[in-house]
Amino acid sequence: MAARPQPRKVRIPEHKHCPICGRSMPVDADFCSDACRKVNEERLRRERRARTITLVIYAILMAVLLLFLLGPFFRTPAG
Ligand SMILES: [Zn+2]
Repeated sequence: MAARPQPRKVRIPEHKHCPICGRSMPVDADFCSDACRKVNEERLRRERRARTITLVIYAILMAVLLLFLLGPFFRTPAG
């Protein structure tokens, strides 16, 4: 017969998991180690840059679109 281990009711001390590697760590910590902190910083920086680039591209596209749409109105009819 298989002895199924009963899940013991162990009170797990309050903790949370590192958002980078998932290891458990103290509640008041943001990351489990400096390495994970750096990984997070790098990720944030890349995300911010990507968002900026997206915004710039969007602005350029809108400007081009507006120029195409409104261009004829600003042009003086010359024959
Ligand atoms: Zn970590």
